[in-house]
Amino acid sequence: MLNAAGESVAVEPIAFDDLGDDEILVRLAASGVCHTDLHVKITNGWGMPFPILLGHEGAGVVEHVGRAVTSVRPDDRVVISWRVPCGACAICRRGDPVLCQTQRVAQPRVRRARDGQHLARVLATGTFATRTVVHAAQAIPVPRAIPLDKACLIACGVATGVGAALNTAKIRGGSRVAIIGCGAVGLSVVQGARIAGAERIVAVDLTPQKLEWARQFGATDAVDARTGDPVAAARAAAGGPLDYAFEVVGLPATVAQAVGMVGYGGTVVIVGVPPTDSTVTLPLARGGLFNKKVTLTSCSGGDMVPSEFFPRLMRWYLDGTLRLDEMVTREIGLDDVEDAFAAMTSGTVIRSVIRL
Ligand SMILES: [Zn+2]
Ligand SMILES: [Zn+2]
Repeated sequence: MLNAAGESVAVEPIAFDDLGDDEILVRLAASGVCHTDLHVKITNGWGMPFPILLGHEGAGVVEHVGRAVTSVRPDDRVVISWRVPCGACAICRRGDPVLCQTQRVAQPRVRRARDGQHLARVLATGTFATRTVVHAAQAIPVPRAIPLDKACLIACGVATGVGAALNTAKIRGGSRVAIIGCGAVGLSVVQGARIAGAERIVAVDLTPQKLEWARQFGATDAVDARTGDPVAAARAAAGGPLDYAFEVVGLPATVAQAVGMVGYGGTVVIVGVPPTDSTVTLPLARGGLFNKKVTLTSCSGGDMVPSEFFPRLMRWYLDGTLRLDEMVTREIGLDDVEDAFAAMTSGTVIRSVIRL
């Protein structure tokens, strides 16, 4: 947990309130360390009150269920989603559940044991813990054949990246795609582009190791953005202007590069979480949004409904289409979260996974 702004993460005993009728207690088996957890730390809480329980990419086993829960039972293996449409708001009822802003979540039930204070949970999950409480609808069953320390990746990074390619951009087969930023989410966009049948998949990054990983996950070309103009290099590698460009860094400069890469009718998807108060200046006319008729959009968690999308990702893992094993570059314990943050910052891992 993060106890206060500016502090390192601390491992402490936690305690639980009784479950609400729609809630479940999950004994976690594994959790990926996502960049958003680091974002919470470096933004001094990301707007949440302290203390904060980190982690939102977890999988585990259901231990107890509330009185009204019928979708899962004790001993079910589940992956926990942080993004579950309510099914009842006007947006859900008009048929756009991926745009729902009233997610189904559990009440705060986890406390810091030493003083009984409720913990705020990152993205209503809190998976850097031996146990957590979530809404039953957040728990998506995992088949026995999928190890939980791989299934956890689906919860955030993989669903976001693959979803950006398939759901946000709806990449057409045969198209030219560029991905700027090849961490876990960017590599998942690469996989999504490959699954969609893209013909050229151009990976752009500053780190040779990440470009090498991108090739392993399906990129056809790699552009080292440290040398020369990445926009011209990506267009040259793809053999022409891109149909889709994904910005998976979260910086104004790379958003502008993505707009420069696409051709007429191209689509730019912003996937990276931008810094608070950031702005971007983009050309409108020559080579810009208006003249090129660019579609500019952003991706929120893969723009998907987990109960439909997670099982599809799991089937793709089982038939070899989606590669998860290769994404786990480091297995760590609950005491190693700060080390995982350092490894993430230095760009030497795809994903660190905490084994609980
Ligand atoms: Zn995440
Ligand atoms: Zn809704």
